[in-house]
Amino acid sequence: MSPLPDLIRRLGSQVLTDPADLVGYSSDASRARPEGLPAAVVIARSSAVAAAVEWASSNYVRVSVRGSGTGLAGGAVAYPGGLVISLAELNKIVAIDPANRLADVQAGVITANIDRAAAEHGLMYAPDPASSRESTIGGNIATNAGGLRCVKYGVTADSIAALEVVLASGEIIHTGSRTRKNVVGYDLTSLFVGSEGTLGIVTAATVRLRPRPVGTTVTFRAAFPTIAAAGRAVTAIMTSDVVPEVLELMDRTSVELVEKFSPTGLSTDGAAALLVGQFIGSTATSDLEQATTMSRRAGAISVEQAEGDILLEARRVSSRALSAEGPRVSSDVALPIARLADMFEAIERISAEEGVPIPTFAHAGDGNLHPSVIVRGDSDEVSDDAERILDRITDTALSLGGTMSGEHGVGSLKHGSLAKQLDPATMAAHRLIKSVFDPKGILTPGRGI
Ligand SMILES: Cc1cc2nc3c(=O)[nH]c(=O)nc-3n(C[C@H](O)[C@H](O)[C@H](O)COP(=O)(O)OP(=O)(O)OC[C@H]3O[C@@H](n4cnc5c(N)ncnc54)[C@H](O)[C@@H]3O)c2cc1C
Repeated sequence: MSPLPDLIRRLGSQVLTDPADLVGYSSDASRARPEGLPAAVVIARSSAVAAAVEWASSNYVRVSVRGSGTGLAGGAVAYPGGLVISLAELNKIVAIDPANRLADVQAGVITANIDRAAAEHGLMYAPDPASSRESTIGGNIATNAGGLRCVKYGVTADSIAALEVVLASGEIIHTGSRTRKNVVGYDLTSLFVGSEGTLGIVTAATVRLRPRPVGTTVTFRAAFPTIAAAGRAVTAIMTSDVVPEVLELMDRTSVELVEKFSPTGLSTDGAAALLVGQFIGSTATSDLEQATTMSRRAGAISVEQAEGDILLEARRVSSRALSAEGPRVSSDVALPIARLADMFEAIERISAEEGVPIPTFAHAGDGNLHPSVIVRGDSDEVSDDAERILDRITDTALSLGGTMSGEHGVGSLKHGSLAKQLDPATMAAHRLIKSVFDPKGILTPGRGI
């Protein structure tokens, strides 16, 4: 007998089972496609997450966890016959605590809304993925998302103080604390951050706020004859004593596609790559002078001050602009800062050898690159070819001491490549942790780790 009626009896209107409703909860923003519809979606409110997980556990039903579905690794894609738990309606900012520079939020709050609420107190929630106006804080926590400001303030992990998590058994645990220091127990907060829905479901978080930077704001745009030269400038800036608020890169193709998608007036003026950087504060002007000198030494053709919001907006829409052009497979490799120029040279070489464009944009100051292999035609074979080229990029990043994912996560798309980065003993340690938290293997199985 189908166990679904029992779920509906427990959670009522929070359960969707009409196939027309299920479709919208089955994919994420990645190229991963669901193999079939889930049996049900729970749009969780109040204590529904624990009840839904208990039900899934009792009935051995696979669960995918979902915030806004902007993920790029296939982590939130539904399992055929499985259960999707959506956190999107658990979206209350419970409290802003300026005295302790903390915010208590439910997992489905849109990340940019936390920052907006903090701004009313002169504070900010720093991590700002380019998707921050759509993605949820729960999704950001599960993927340990990065963003434009992360070069200065750190990634999501650096802004999480405490979590409420529903375990695979349906039990609720609390990790971390409201204090600045805390060494009681294992650091479970760090374990759950970046665990991609495989160890538990984050239902609420206490996030750290920082003073909002004030003072002079200067934004610059530096144009380079080669992308490798831009890489050398990033390495120089990031190993100097100036700390940019933002340091992003777009190559020529990315800039052209952004201009086609949403014109901002940004132009490469014939350069191969642009760096877009920003400094805020009392030393902003002298920091800019230093960054300009370092960019010129690395080969910049021009460095000019520019209107900040437009430049940063151009970078924020890069991903959408490239996707609007047609099918592509995109990567998320991260490199040690000193190897950036080597990686950019390798991408150019691979692009020339394969005869395929590989536009690249990057959270350059964090060494995190998003090269995209443009898919030729639309047959499966061609797509396999793009995946093969993408593998060459990943292998190169690993050979330079990098990682196959800097911020999007492993999800389903990179799960098969894990052994390239993790040795057998390290992989076994990860699997041991997974089996302790999720002995029946119901939470996001076969993904992440
Ligand atoms: C245009 C665009 C720009 C982007 N820019 C960036 C960027 O700059 N930096 C960056 O890091 N990413 C970026 N991303 C990727 C994506 O936005 C992030 O991965 C984001 O953190 C996903 O949040 P979400 O709420 O959409 O999560 P989803 O896509 O719904 O889920 C992502 C993963 O988290 C898990 N998950 C979601 N919520 C929870 C929860 N409450 N508890 C446990 N697990 C959960 C899911 O199971 C899945 O594995 C971008 C995506 C797009 C489409």
